[in-house]
Amino acid sequence: MAKKMLVIGEIRDAQFRNVTFEAIAAAKGISSGGEVVGVVLGEKVSNHANEMVAYGADRVIVVENEKLAHYTPEGYAQALNEVVNKENPDGILLGHTAVGRDIAPKLAARIGSGLISDAVSYDVVGEEVVFTRPIYSGKAFEKVVVTDGMIFATIRPNNIAALEKEEERSGDIESLDVPIMDLKTMIKEVVKNTSTGIDLSEASIIVAGGRGMKGEENFSILYELADVLGAAVGASRGACDAEYCDYALQIGQTGKVVTPDLYIAVGISGAIQHVAGMSNSKVIVAINKDPEAEIFQIADYGIVGDLFEVIPKLTEEFKKV
Ligand code: FAD
Repeated sequence: MAKKMLVIGEIRDAQFRNVTFEAIAAAKGISSGGEVVGVVLGEKVSNHANEMVAYGADRVIVVENEKLAHYTPEGYAQALNEVVNKENPDGILLGHTAVGRDIAPKLAARIGSGLISDAVSYDVVGEEVVFTRPIYSGKAFEKVVVTDGMIFATIRPNNIAALEKEEERSGDIESLDVPIMDLKTMIKEVVKNTSTGIDLSEASIIVAGGRGMKGEENFSILYELADVLGAAVGASRGACDAEYCDYALQIGQTGKVVTPDLYIAVGISGAIQHVAGMSNSKVIVAINKDPEAEIFQIADYGIVGDLFEVIPKLTEEFKKV
């Protein structure tokens, strides 16, 4: 049966996060020929609506309000509640990002729905939609079926391919006026704390350093390699705890969960809490001087050697490509 699916877009630094387009592709598959309705929230965001259409949305609802200029759970929940009440969709998808993880349960509670979080894939089996999601820090996967009510899920970035962007796709853009009642919290300023322009959770290549880097100043060799590869730089908690880099770079169970095409782990031992955040990377390369390091157990390629010799050589070689 055709379904109406709502996709909540997420804009960061004046552009959609890729996972918005990945969620549109998933919604398209799940809708089985039904309607995919994009939702874009913010202060001045109507110029972004066409991009959701270009990636496959059949229609886009734009909610503009100065109180939505920055994400607040209260403001977004109020606005989205209105959209859901008006549209009465069969399902809602959004990215499993910091914002998605925050707003989805709040919205689910408001609308009385269940929620499947962190889905990495889906299957449409007859009338049912089966989502796959990692459990036990990525050591196993479970399949979850929505048997009744709303199909509400957050989608892990980098796992479901977005549709090709086609500018000639057409779709209606509607603006919806939603009064946002008094907010208890207001964001006055956002202070950015990432070291490269590339968002870790959506990066296709990550170069991550661990305690083996031995000092903050040595991270420069990782940034050089990352520059050449167009990669983002990440870190283990060991490196963050040792103050070699900011906690914003931490990958793992208590840091960011990443699924890049290529993950290069440099001077990282491979503790289970780190692996929990990166084991679903498509190709893992480990560089460690200890041949017994646990990271080699999950690596597709391993280099046993001193990172201070290996990394500059790799950087030089990649420069030639
Ligand atoms: P180490 O374990 O010290 O490993 C350093 C590695 O560098 C070693 O393998 C060594 O052989 C290698 N090395 C040293 N010098 C060189 C050299 N010159 N060349 C090449 N290799 C070299 N950790 C995370 O990463 N993310 C998390 O989210 C996280 N959450 C946690 C949550 C909890 C509740 C707990 C208890 C722990 C958590 N940890 C997390 C910490 C985790 O257990 C490890 O302590 C941490 O991952 C170790 O970081 P590391 O691999 O950089 O350091």
